[in-house]
Amino acid sequence: MERRQVPVLVAGGGPVGLATAVELAHHGIECLVVEPRETVSWLRPRAKTTSARSMEILRRWGLAETLRSRAPLAVAWSDEAVFATSLLGREITRIDRCFGLDLVGSDLAAEPGQQVPQPLVEEVLREAVGDALLTGWQVTGLEEDADGVTVRIAATDGAEREVRAQYVVGCDGSRSVTRDAIGSRYEGRQDARPNFNIVFRAPDLADRVPHGPAVHYWVLNPAQPGIVGRLDLKDTWWCIAQGVRAEDADPVRLVRNLAGADIDVEILATDPWTARMLLADRYASRRVFLAGDAAHQNPPYGGHGFNTGVGDAVNIGWKLAAVLRGWAPEALLATYESERRPIAADTIEAAAANMATLAPELADPALMGTDEEFAKVRPAVAEAIRRTKDSEFHSLDLVLGYTYTGSPIVASGTGERLPHRWLAPGESLYDRLGRAFSLVGDLGSPQAASLVAQARELGVPLEEVDLPGEPLTLVRPDQHVAWRGGDPEGALRLALGHLR
Ligand SMILES: Cc1cc2nc3c(=O)[nH]c(=O)nc-3n(C[C@H](O)[C@H](O)[C@H](O)COP(=O)(O)OP(=O)(O)OC[C@H]3O[C@@H](n4cnc5c(N)ncnc54)[C@H](O)[C@@H]3O)c2cc1C
Repeated sequence: MERRQVPVLVAGGGPVGLATAVELAHHGIECLVVEPRETVSWLRPRAKTTSARSMEILRRWGLAETLRSRAPLAVAWSDEAVFATSLLGREITRIDRCFGLDLVGSDLAAEPGQQVPQPLVEEVLREAVGDALLTGWQVTGLEEDADGVTVRIAATDGAEREVRAQYVVGCDGSRSVTRDAIGSRYEGRQDARPNFNIVFRAPDLADRVPHGPAVHYWVLNPAQPGIVGRLDLKDTWWCIAQGVRAEDADPVRLVRNLAGADIDVEILATDPWTARMLLADRYASRRVFLAGDAAHQNPPYGGHGFNTGVGDAVNIGWKLAAVLRGWAPEALLATYESERRPIAADTIEAAAANMATLAPELADPALMGTDEEFAKVRPAVAEAIRRTKDSEFHSLDLVLGYTYTGSPIVASGTGERLPHRWLAPGESLYDRLGRAFSLVGDLGSPQAASLVAQARELGVPLEEVDLPGEPLTLVRPDQHVAWRGGDPEGALRLALGHLR
């Protein structure tokens, strides 16, 4: 049997596995991504929201512009969600500045969010990963020993191979073989309500929509509540029909009900799903780490799922690189679970809270009545929408505001994302950071000399960003703050997981 050796094997080439590979490559670490799907699943678009934070990370990899230029809905096209009696029906209210899409040129983020179908994100990441992606193969099992991991992989034609890796990142989704292999278990619950996704083509539908551009059209018709949106600016659309069981679904009827008219429709694909709130009880063994849906699953409301996984990918990616390059002891890797698992737990709770009030709960039979009945009930429904849906569409506290405060590898009181700011038109402070660690602030200070000496001693690259008169900040590869002000003695060693 052929046997290949690689520093890191990534099981699964969905968005999170690919992001892990890109992060490793960013630090010059070779990996192999094993993925059964030869091509991305264009007709199963799932995620449509790439968060402002994921876009900042894509900017760090040099991919943000590529993704934006290929996204069918330009960021300037709309940042609104419309709530209506149907796609073609009466408008109840609208929410703007959704999903950080308004953050163009903002002082809050180096990149706004971007509405873009998940397969396109995967396509851009696949191109970036290049030859490290092995498609047509899947991981069937693995054994870990003191020196590495032996991973068994099988091809669709039945061929088998072994790959020897120093580390494995399991990004193989909800039915993760990797999770089982390390004896980790999902804990949590699932929503009782079934959902039915449809991708459809409807020529001329867009011209008939009275609400103008919006990234979501929520349909609050009690007879068929759901959400509709455009996949492109031609004639392809997605929708979620809520409360519909696959066995009862008549896709054409569902689309027409959500549209509110007997429109011409061609069904391209259907995808039944149930929302899950699941968190793996452990994220890692010594050499195998879980990331993305393999480690956590949350309801899609708020658009956090794969975005949380991108955060996982960056966290485990830079840490594996630091260990493999000899800058950090293996103990650093144990902080992956302690830093990322609480964030997934918070995200699951936030997304579950968003799910508590959806179109079926907001729908009111009076909305479907005469103009008079509609006018009478509309203010109360609009008020309920404002009250219950704000956190779903405006969650920058979670998306940009999560911190690693309390982690053993950040100095007390730090761990937050380094605040972005513009240094020049179009140039974010982030663009000046190095791939490894960075020292930002007044480099004339004695603390700066100490940190530069620590980096030299540990052999860790340290990008120096001189901002005279500003407090000195040690920034990790993932743009989170590891130390700020005070006594710098041992700060870089701490950030790399060397014991105090
Ligand atoms: C309706 C809906 C809407 C959503 N909207 C959003 C959104 O707006 N924003 C957001 O961030 N998230 C959203 N999500 C969630 C998002 O789709 C997932 O979180 C995301 O796909 C997880 O990425 P992943 O790479 O971890 O897992 P997956 O995408 O599941 O990828 C896992 C990969 O592993 C491969 N694989 C499986 N088994 C093996 C094996 N044995 N060996 C090797 N490879 C294997 C699979 O082929 C697959 O490519 C949504 C989900 C749904 C259902």
